[in-house]
Formats: sequence, C-alpha cells, structure tokens
Amino acid sequence: MDFRLTQRQLDLQTAARDLADFLTKYELACEEDNGLPPEAHAEVRDAVLNAGLQAINMPAEWGGAGLTIFEQAVVQEQLGRLTGALWDMVWRPANALRFCTPGQRERFLEPVIRGERRDCYAVTEPNAGSDPQNLTTTARKVDDGWSIDGEKWFVTVGDHADFIIVLAAAGEDRAPTLFLVDKATQGVAVQRTPRFMHTFVYEHPEFTFTDVFVPDDQVLGGLGEGYDITRAWFTEERLMIAARTIGAAERALELAREWAVRREQFGQPIANFQLIQGMLADCAVDIAVNRAYFLQVAWEISQPDADRKTLHAKAAIAKLTASEASNRVIDRCVQIFGGRGYDRSYAVERLYRELRVDRIWEGTSEIQRLIISGELIKRGTNVLRLPS
Ligand SMILES: Cc1cc2nc3c(=O)[nH]c(=O)nc-3n(C[C@H](O)[C@H](O)[C@H](O)COP(=O)(O)OP(=O)(O)OC[C@H]3O[C@@H](n4cnc5c(N)ncnc54)[C@H](O)[C@@H]3O)c2cc1C
Repeated sequence: MDFRLTQRQLDLQTAARDLADFLTKYELACEEDNGLPPEAHAEVRDAVLNAGLQAINMPAEWGGAGLTIFEQAVVQEQLGRLTGALWDMVWRPANALRFCTPGQRERFLEPVIRGERRDCYAVTEPNAGSDPQNLTTTARKVDDGWSIDGEKWFVTVGDHADFIIVLAAAGEDRAPTLFLVDKATQGVAVQRTPRFMHTFVYEHPEFTFTDVFVPDDQVLGGLGEGYDITRAWFTEERLMIAARTIGAAERALELAREWAVRREQFGQPIANFQLIQGMLADCAVDIAVNRAYFLQVAWEISQPDADRKTLHAKAAIAKLTASEASNRVIDRCVQIFGGRGYDRSYAVERLYRELRVDRIWEGTSEIQRLIISGELIKRGTNVLRLPS
C-alpha cells in the first residue's frame, strides 16, 4: 500500500492551490458586495481555463479536464479553502449532463465545459426536500414536447445559469424525468431570491414554471430516469463536499494556529494556554482523520470494479463525518480568534457561516445517517471494509 500522491496528483494539487490562492483576492469584494462584477467573472473564467481546471468531471474528448474521482477530490480540497463559495466559479457541470444525446451535448454540455454557458439543477420544491419523491412539478405531454408546471426552490447558480435541469413527474405515470429548460423560455420566472446565512458568489433563487414548453429533444437521460441519474450524482457530489469542507477546515486551522502563536494576552502568546492547545489539537485530529477517509473513498470510487451500492453509503459516511468535523473545527477557530473571529473581514468568520450548509444540502446529516444505517441493516458491515 502506498499513500503518496503521484507526480500527476501533486501537479493537480499545486495547480488547484495556485488557482485558489489567486481567487482569494476576490473574497472580500464578494463578501462586501454579495457577489462579483462581470469583469471579475471574466477574469476568473480565464484563470480557470489557464489552470486547465475547467469541468474537471468531464472527459477530455469533450473539452473537460478529464480527471478521475480521486484527482477531482484532490482539486476540490484545495478549492474548498475559498470563502464566498468562490470554488463554485471553477465550474463542474452537473454529472447528469453526461447523459446528453450528441445533439444535446453540442447545445448544452460542451458550451458549459468551455465556460460559455452555465447549468443549474432544480430538484427541491417547497414540499419535496429530503423526500424528492414528493415532487409536484409535472410535465404534461403535448404535441412535439412537454409542458412543465411547478415550483423549484434553492436553485444554486440559478441567477447566473442560462439553463436549468428540472426534475418533473412526466405523463400520466408520473415518471420522474429530467428536462433541459432554457431559462429564457416563456413561463420560467424567478419568484424570490432569498438572502441566506452564507455569502455565496451566486444566488439560490426560487423558480416557478407555468406552462413551459420543452421540446422532446430536451428530455435528459430518458423518461423515468430522473431519480437514478440524480442519485448517481449524489455519490460523487457528497464526496466532493467532504473534500472541500476539509480544505476549508485546514485553512481555518492554519489561520487559528498563526493567530494563537502571535496574539498575546496575560503577557504571553495565547498558544501557551493549554485550553487553546486543546482546541488546536482537536482541530488537527478532525482534519487528519477525515482527510484520510475521503481520500480512501475517492480512491475506491476510481477503481473499475467498485461496488456502487456500498460506495453510495461510504460517500454518505465521508460527507457526514467531514461536514460535521469541519463545523467543529471552524467553531473552535472562531473561538481562538476571539472577537475578531466574529468580524466578517476575517476568513474564519466567513467559513463559520459557509460551512453550516454542508450539513444540510445534498442530503442532510440525518439523511446520511439513514443511508448508512440502511446499508448496514440490508447488507451488513461491508461498508466498513477496505476493498479486497
Ligand atoms: C444554500 C442551499 C442551496 C441549495 N441548492 C440546491 C440546488 O441547487 N438544487 C436543489 O434541488 N436543491 C438545493 N438545495 C436544497 C437542499 O438539498 C435541501 O434543503 C435539503 O435536501 C433538505 O431539504 P429541506 O430543506 O426541504 O428540509 P426537510 O427535508 O424539510 O428537512 C427538515 C429537517 O427534517 C429532517 N428530516 C427529514 N426527513 C427525515 C427523516 N426521514 N428522518 C429524520 N430526519 C428527517 C432533516 O434532516 C432536517 O433536519 C439547497 C439548499 C440550500 C440551503
């Protein structure tokens, strides 16, 4: 067993770290203005393309960076250091778009990969959150296409994207199906753009769809495939959340450690106080253990004979433990900074607000626990084993 990163993995890690370091210059402006101006978006787009980190989850033959899941996790860990969710400016098209037909690929996916278009993914509804099967958005068959009616909430990047991947119950069978909906289509409207706890470089608007016509050739992945495709996406996305949250936690610990060594009270650095030392040590433990686990699962997913069902539960473990650990880490780091940790111009304050959502989106911590316990009950303790 060799735990060292290969030269290629190290090169990707360096490229991602350099890109993250470059993007930090936009953090304060993003916080102060709740977003960035178009010039900044254009500069970041160029920087992403120059770094070769566009669409890291898409094959090179379509223009993506074509990274394995393990390589993607290595990159995402570095990008997770950023506040303002600037990591999301390093676009990774929804994996569901892999199911595009050749025609759809040309119109939708390839322009996203090039950074010319942007997708967003609309599953959640006012009454369908953890339970997406409760969806009420419908697609009614009409001549040459479908007519979509319904409401979608929390659509991340919905302000910036120009098309939406919409999950709807299609036809009389209510077959859960994904549709590619151009945002400019008549009947698509933004009802509300809530302000959330975090500052995020994009918004998460609420959309309504009223008699929105979508031609037949904009069904994504086939009728009735909507849940399966979405579920497959969850496994990888949850792992990337684990990677990003640990990257964020490490940045916070670096800052808190530096602060503890420099800041003096009672005539000496606060790092001399054992109560501070205990917090630093607990942060290091949370980070080290969680990094080892998400890298293990990322490596397992990258193996050709990976067992998808067990990996779904392992990704749930990775997301649950890393998101909860990073929330503990950032809480301690804010404490170590004292009053300054409560000031928005400090990265630890911003990370404190930003890491909270990682226990909610892409399946709450409770839902991850249900997935893990479901796997244990159905298939035993395989989920704990390393692959043989
Ligand atoms: C900032 C942000 C961005 C988002 N981006 C997107 C996006 O781009 N696209 C998208 O489709 N969605 C998005 N979401 C939605 C997100 O995935 C949901 O918020 C999440 O799945 C939880 O659903 P809910 O908010 O309806 O909570 P609910 O499902 O109503 O849950 C409320 C509480 O009940 C608990 N609970 C629910 N069921 C059970 C159960 N069976 N057992 C035990 N506890 C349970 C939950 O864990 C939670 O604590 C986003 C959310 C946020 C906050």
